[in-house]
Amino acid sequence: MQSFRARVLTPDLDGPGSHPLRWIPDAHVVIDDAGRLVEVAPYTGQPVDEDLRPGVLLPGFVDGHVHYPQTRIVGSASGPLLEWLQRSTFPEESRFSDDTHAREVARIFCAALASAGTTLAFVYASRHETAADAVLDALDQAGLRALVGPVWMDARSPDALTISAERSEEAVRRLADRWHGHDDRLQVAVIPRFAVTSSEAGLRRAGDLSRELGLWATTHLAENTAECDTVAELFGRRYLQVYEDAGLVHDRSVFAHCIHLTDAEWDRFAAAGAVVAHCPDSNAFLGSGNMPTGAVVSRDIPVIIGTDVAAGRSFRVPRILSSAYDNALAAGHELTPATLLWWGTRSGALALGHDHIGAVAPGLDADLVLVDVPPWVDDADGVLAWTLFYADAPLPRRTWVRGRVIWDRDAHAARGGVFPWDLPG
Ligand SMILES: [Zn+2]
Repeated sequence: MQSFRARVLTPDLDGPGSHPLRWIPDAHVVIDDAGRLVEVAPYTGQPVDEDLRPGVLLPGFVDGHVHYPQTRIVGSASGPLLEWLQRSTFPEESRFSDDTHAREVARIFCAALASAGTTLAFVYASRHETAADAVLDALDQAGLRALVGPVWMDARSPDALTISAERSEEAVRRLADRWHGHDDRLQVAVIPRFAVTSSEAGLRRAGDLSRELGLWATTHLAENTAECDTVAELFGRRYLQVYEDAGLVHDRSVFAHCIHLTDAEWDRFAAAGAVVAHCPDSNAFLGSGNMPTGAVVSRDIPVIIGTDVAAGRSFRVPRILSSAYDNALAAGHELTPATLLWWGTRSGALALGHDHIGAVAPGLDADLVLVDVPPWVDDADGVLAWTLFYADAPLPRRTWVRGRVIWDRDAHAARGGVFPWDLPG
């Protein structure tokens, strides 16, 4: 048992409806030995293990789209999507055939996630099975939750990154045998990188495998107009149709970006029960455009937020939520801060089938993040303002997954750590 006194802000379990948030200015929080929240209630004078006030406990953040092998190239400015892939991404990802490099970056990546307050992430590895294994191992050690897969790239890719769909399938099967369901925290996923680097047969094999093994699938969709034109030229039809024909659009599939879709395509997307990974900072950095937030919200399409590092420039989900607000407003749609918090926590968890996390509520696992806000902030609106929109906010003070501390800022600083991944000592 662990018990705390803290301020608590959490989305409602069921969504940003009539009671979108619960704010407890002085709460008693108890976590049992299995890491489950057993009490979240107003404080009534009990002795506690630790008083975390004036810190605010929030649910851990969910990053629905992030590329682990791009960890070291954040801020690599080299133009729009297709140029950026050639100039920055593919050369870096080619290095992940080296297991030592893959394992070192995996450690850095996990520290970046935990220190950002992220507790669950949907992670693209490079095309290498060994690199996917390395990051799964690091995620396990770090105590994080994740869905992970190697990217499939069986066409129009640099030689060093090209791999047959058959070999990718074999890799996913082996990784799933080893890792899928591990400690109820790790899952293996099917991840064709995107249509441009896939053959028609490769996409179909990926779709078949995800349905055969019941694995989540994810890929990029309609991010950039040059990319959409290339797909139309290569496949002779529109982008979403290519994935539909491959059996990849279903209620366990996540599509990143989704900027250039027609209304009819959005209708089909919604009917399939697919999930949008909204990556507004990446969309800005690569000049891709604005995702039509209204089209998604009006159809009740499940949304998760993606940092999309390294096209996204931050591992911090709140930074991306701030960009989501800007993006929506520019497109004529005003999002509430409560909806943003929902997207970054409970919505992301539910969208990825994790109904046991995403809020600070009894019965859920204790996936939590402790944040600092200025001393004058004493209500839910203020906490949202300073947590979601203040770009200079300090890193979270602490992050827990299932009741276990996976990041402690003060302890890290006391050991001389500056960047989150600095080794102690
Ligand atoms: Zn991406």
